[in-house]
Amino acid sequence: MNIKGSTDIVGLIGHPVEHSFSPPMHNAAFQALGMDYAYVAFDVDPSDLKLAIEGADALNIKGFNVTIPHKIEVMNYLNELDEVAGLIGAVNTIDFKNLKGYNTDGIGAIKAIEEVTGVCDKNVVVAGAGGASRAISFYLAKYGAESITILNRNVDKAKSLAGDVLDSKLIGEVNSDSILQIEDCLKDADILVDTTPLGMDPHIDDVPVATSDMMHEDLVVFDAVYNPNETVLLKEAIKAGAKPVYGIKMLLYQGAESFKIWTGQDAPIDVMEKALRDTLNL
Ligand code: NAP
Repeated sequence: MNIKGSTDIVGLIGHPVEHSFSPPMHNAAFQALGMDYAYVAFDVDPSDLKLAIEGADALNIKGFNVTIPHKIEVMNYLNELDEVAGLIGAVNTIDFKNLKGYNTDGIGAIKAIEEVTGVCDKNVVVAGAGGASRAISFYLAKYGAESITILNRNVDKAKSLAGDVLDSKLIGEVNSDSILQIEDCLKDADILVDTTPLGMDPHIDDVPVATSDMMHEDLVVFDAVYNPNETVLLKEAIKAGAKPVYGIKMLLYQGAESFKIWTGQDAPIDVMEKALRDTLNL
């Protein structure tokens, strides 16, 4: 990488950040397109978050990704929020042009699923009701899903999220129930989105949220877990003849959307995917 006086800086703020896959992914993209940008990771203590945003703005930094634990708190220091990011209540991308916050996590999942099928008019079952589920559920609504059924171990959390998504008026039908009802719910589903950490390394032999006998051939199964690449849930999906969507694609497309927000250019998806796979040894 050739950093010059003219180089534009984008980066990541979080705490910690040293294991992030984003610097190699974005720097590979800038290099492939011959763009005079560099992507750097900054470890920002929560008590310094306001200073970090003001400082970055003063330093003419072009954009940030935002990760744990700053995704919610950072909204207090922005001028503007993208509509869906505001509904989600969390930001993972900042554009310093107008100090505006976005959430590309949910779009990342939609784009990943769209490699296999569109989400418009589809009946989607979402397992889990945490941060990833929230981001993805609002974007499923925004992209025209027919219905969303949120299933969780803690049913109150599923109910609360379902209420928020319904209140957004982006979608007409949002249901909630216990994760134990998944077999019944999958019968009429087109897409299963699993946002629980089940099957994540080192717990690769966890019992997944659904097994092959609960799935049908027309089902698309997306697992947000990306390590291992082929989780126990995706193995079950393949066994059932259903179509798997890999978690790494969500990582890839959330990055690609951030890249577009900062630079105005389409991201080189193949280059970014290769850098991501190399970094994650996938
Ligand atoms: P989170 O906010 O902690 O939510 C976790 C959810 O999983 C909760 O609904 C929790 O249920 C449920 N859960 C946890 N353990 C469970 C178990 N043993 N059985 C059933 N349900 C269980 O976490 P998050 O930020 O949403 O992240 C969730 C997963 O998505 C993680 O594995 C993360 O790595 C992955 N992720 C991937 C990407 C990507 O780009 N591919 C991006 C973000 C996150 P309760 O409410 O009942 O506790």
